[in-house]
Amino acid sequence: MTGKVYLIGAGPGDPELLTLKAHRLLISADVVLYDRLVGKDIIDLIPESAEKMYVGKAKSLHSLPQGEINVLLAKKAQEGKMVVRLKGGDPFIFGRGGEELEELVEEQVPFEVVPGVTAAAGCAAYAGIPLTHRDYAQSVRFLTGHLKDGTTDLPWDELVHPAQTLVIYMGLTGLADIAQSLLKFGMSAAMPVAVVEKGTTSEQRVFTSTIADICSVVNEQEVKSPALLIIGEVVTLQDKLEWYGKY
Ligand code: SAH
Repeated sequence: MTGKVYLIGAGPGDPELLTLKAHRLLISADVVLYDRLVGKDIIDLIPESAEKMYVGKAKSLHSLPQGEINVLLAKKAQEGKMVVRLKGGDPFIFGRGGEELEELVEEQVPFEVVPGVTAAAGCAAYAGIPLTHRDYAQSVRFLTGHLKDGTTDLPWDELVHPAQTLVIYMGLTGLADIAQSLLKFGMSAAMPVAVVEKGTTSEQRVFTSTIADICSVVNEQEVKSPALLIIGEVVTLQDKLEWYGKY
């Protein structure tokens, strides 16, 4: 009998941000395929009896090409296994979850999707930056700073907009380009920006600056991936609302 694939969001790092459903499925899995962004504390929850497979990708250095991951998922389920595909954050937000499911549909493998806390929600919460606020932002946009063709060619004119928070995933490498483009399209040089490194983990670091200066801050502090950019007036609240590691 064919098994099933559970595409599960592991959240941004803190294992306590796993959902109860994710946890229940993880501890009864036969096979777990996981990415680089899934933290060690979460990997440690996988039972000894399960086959653990690291398929994770560091940027431009895929340890298993996406196509092969898709095929492997289907194959393991066809062997009758309960397969967990564990991804950082939420599987449907910059997680290629959709691509993996398309293959399963083609192979007629049953699946379920379990949402996770996406980096935007996790990092914002643990940094003390509400993504919306009645005084500062009525909308929030999630963007990727790393497009499929390697450019950072985003719809800049739509991004320079009052009362909007921008959250940029995978924005570290292209940060200089991103900042320059936003300034060129009219963003105030004083627009507040936060960068959250390893958000929700015990190694979390948060830096705030302006769109004009964020690049030099990131360089000086040697900020490393994974890091999330939050751009908008809401960032000014961080000073007051910061709580993680403080009390
Ligand atoms: N599916 C994931 C996103 C994958 S894209 C989600 O929903 O969160 C990978 C990017 O997510 C990283 O480059 C970084 O920008 C962001 N990210 C993921 N985890 C993070 C963390 N703990 N801290 C900061 N950024 C994180």
